[in-house]
Amino acid sequence: MAKFVYDFTEGNRDLKDLLGGKGANLAEMTNLGLPVPPGFTITSEACRHYLAEGSVPEGLEREIADHLSALESAMGKKLGQADDPLLVSVRSGAKFSMPGMMETVLNIGLNDESVHGLAKQAGGNDRFAWDSYRRLIQMFGKTVQDIDGELFEHALEKLKNGRQDTDLTAQELQGLVETYKGIVREQTGKDFPADPRDQLRLAVMAVFDSWNAPRAILYRRQERIPADLGTAVNIVAMVFGNLGDDSGTGVAFTRDPGSGRQGIYGDYLQNAQGEDVVAGIRNTVPLQDLERIDKGSYDELLSIMETLETHYRDLCDIEFTIERGKLWMLQTRVGKRTAAAAFRIAVQLVDQGLITLDEAVTRVSGDQLAQLMFPRFSQEGDRKTITKGMNASPGAAVGKVVFTSERAVELAGQGEDVILVRRETNPDDLSGMIAARGVLTSRGGKTSHAAVVARGMGKTCVCGAEELEVSSSQKRFTAPGGIEVREGDVISIDGSTGEVFLGEVPVVDSVVVEYFEGAQPDDELVKAVDRIMAHADSVRRLGVRANADNAEDSARARRFGAQGIGLCRTEHMFLGERRQLVEDLVLAASKQERQAALDALEPHQKSDFIGIFRAMEGLPVTIRLIDPPLHEFLPDLVALSVKAATGEATDKDRALLAAVKRLHEQNPMLGLRGVRLGLVIPGLFAMQVRAIAEAAREVPGARPEIMIPLVAAVQELEAVREEAVKILRATGVDALVGTMIETPRAALTAGQVAEAAEFFSFGTNDLTQMTWGFSRDDVEAAFFSRYLELGIFGVSPFETLDRDGVGRLVRIAVEEGRATRPGLKLGICGEHGGDPDSVHFCHEAGLDYVSCSPFRIPVARLEAGRAVLTHNDSDTR
Ligand code: ADP
Ligand code: MG
Ligand code: MG
Repeated sequence: MAKFVYDFTEGNRDLKDLLGGKGANLAEMTNLGLPVPPGFTITSEACRHYLAEGSVPEGLEREIADHLSALESAMGKKLGQADDPLLVSVRSGAKFSMPGMMETVLNIGLNDESVHGLAKQAGGNDRFAWDSYRRLIQMFGKTVQDIDGELFEHALEKLKNGRQDTDLTAQELQGLVETYKGIVREQTGKDFPADPRDQLRLAVMAVFDSWNAPRAILYRRQERIPADLGTAVNIVAMVFGNLGDDSGTGVAFTRDPGSGRQGIYGDYLQNAQGEDVVAGIRNTVPLQDLERIDKGSYDELLSIMETLETHYRDLCDIEFTIERGKLWMLQTRVGKRTAAAAFRIAVQLVDQGLITLDEAVTRVSGDQLAQLMFPRFSQEGDRKTITKGMNASPGAAVGKVVFTSERAVELAGQGEDVILVRRETNPDDLSGMIAARGVLTSRGGKTSHAAVVARGMGKTCVCGAEELEVSSSQKRFTAPGGIEVREGDVISIDGSTGEVFLGEVPVVDSVVVEYFEGAQPDDELVKAVDRIMAHADSVRRLGVRANADNAEDSARARRFGAQGIGLCRTEHMFLGERRQLVEDLVLAASKQERQAALDALEPHQKSDFIGIFRAMEGLPVTIRLIDPPLHEFLPDLVALSVKAATGEATDKDRALLAAVKRLHEQNPMLGLRGVRLGLVIPGLFAMQVRAIAEAAREVPGARPEIMIPLVAAVQELEAVREEAVKILRATGVDALVGTMIETPRAALTAGQVAEAAEFFSFGTNDLTQMTWGFSRDDVEAAFFSRYLELGIFGVSPFETLDRDGVGRLVRIAVEEGRATRPGLKLGICGEHGGDPDSVHFCHEAGLDYVSCSPFRIPVARLEAGRAVLTHNDSDTR
């Protein structure tokens, strides 16, 4: 029979799929002999069943009852027993950490009777018992019964009346419990459930349901976490941090998640429970202060942290509670970190002998590297600093201030850059955080919700800027010196230093970009990047080329490590002043006029190619012959029509207008372009091939590869190829002639196409459009967000290559192409070439190289290395 419940002593960290991250790691800590309160985990499989069927799987209730009995015996108390109650927490925990996205309910088992038992067992500490009870109703009401949390918050704020929560007396808290029960009655029409077993059962189902809460769905989409995993549920015996000043609760990292430096990083809050630390209800103290408050627990905590780092061989973050001087571990996991810290930590762990260089490469990602290449603020010029908070998540963000998530989403939708400013954020702010360039809060530390979530998303964040007085209702904040900032004012925030500036501060290149540009690695981060990149390069099998079509980009691409150019588009060479020449070509009335126009274009093309060949110094350069339809180079139809109507048109304008009308297409994407142009306009491709050959003759060692776009049938390619080979022979230039594979038909007939092609380059932008049958420009705005919402795809197929459809065509073409021509060179030149997941696909599919924009080259190099070293990518998130 299926097993749906695991005691903490039965699980381990490898069972994340089943037990979720939290459950698996609680089990792991239990097995390590660390002080974890006893408990058990309901599997994510049970959750999936519940979500699919609408009811819990058969046998689950029995299993829970059995494990609860065992827990009760172990603790010597019974759940909710009137004179000495066992209390438990019910905690969500999915495979991938989703901080604050799902639900947790503490103090299950309290009711009007057991609250007295709890007080008695705590040595007559009534205040503690009523505080625990009001927390239960508040959390249960909000998360299980779907009551607006603000109602409870308001009642609490009103009672506090400016005081701290710790100032409330037992009697006041008892009154608050009555108020809360009233809210529950009013909102649900029923009394707060007094039966502890009802509480437990309802809470478990609420945690299951929280998997599909809107904010959880949004978070998963953002983080590309699959939608069908479900969450596990952990039932844990309660330990109490709210028993007085000898108790408390905290969070810690084994290293600084911002810089990667080793040390003691964390926050601690005396006389508090659970979420109080991250919610920022009172100001926490730095973890170092715990040494003064409770030396025994502090020392034990440090030694546990060391045990965990050595055991997990990575940065861990932990949640703990101290109950009257006794330390309890409530959670650990491999901690989220900034991109810079990821590189630093990976190399530090290598130096400490904890991991190998191979592993170090798998511990960082292309996305993180891309983040490090973001610009940062210029140090020059006068910058008006208004305050400094904590550097929670690096980056340089500039934007207009907004105070609510709704406004952030609204303005960002209008194309504005915004900075979301909040006292503190909560999970409901997620949409605003996604929409904003950066996030600024006045409360909360490096472990606050804002900080954790922003780091996960790679979003710039400054938190805990305590000098700021933020008023969302009045849409303004004030800073020291009487500075007032209103909604719409521009500020700049530096997530690497914590600084906040008034107005727009200019940005400059990152040190990592400077390093790729050739600067000597001198700081610690750059040295770490250098070591990891060198190792990735030494293990990768895929070559990395650049998409570049001018000498400047080509030179940068080489500095960034490109081993050639995989896509040099020639149509960019027809823009600017040269448009005029294309117009002449289109308007040519005779063979002679057409040839004259082509002859005029040739020297321009030739000089462009010379520049590129020089920059690439003997590396291969794949040049794509002209691809877009010619009408793209002509003036706008409306502009010409207006001229004609107002009588301002010249003869040429009138001729152009006629040409524009003649060349108009319903579906330009599927019209007269690519190889079709070459076959329809005599001399066009020949001119380009001649320009390539002539340029190659002038640059010793040049290695051109001529690429024909949009081929669907080998016959098209043969015709063009014949002409090209003739010209190459005549000029004595050696060049490969190959084709793009970007129509499904070319992929499906690759065995034939390879007869006439010395290389294939997958044009996955067009291949994706044609495979799905949609045009990118039309669909992205029209319905992609809806498709993403519906989960039809988890990520746009233009961003990450669609393995099942487009990927299958690629695999067919690889196999059949190579069967015809064993040495066939294979590459990819769509935008996917710089996307981490797609690079892994290209590696698996056996391509020779990927080609991407110059700035993505380091990312592609790193991911090509990781593709060799990571067999199971899923745990590196
Ligand atoms: P999240 O996934 O949002 O971090 P958790 O399940 O970790 O939620 O619960 C949040 C906090 O509640 C924990 O950090 C811990 O402080 C507190 N908590 C959870 N279970 C218990 C327990 N059994 N005893 C005491 N505190 C608990
Ligand atoms: Mg937690
Ligand atoms: Mg194309």
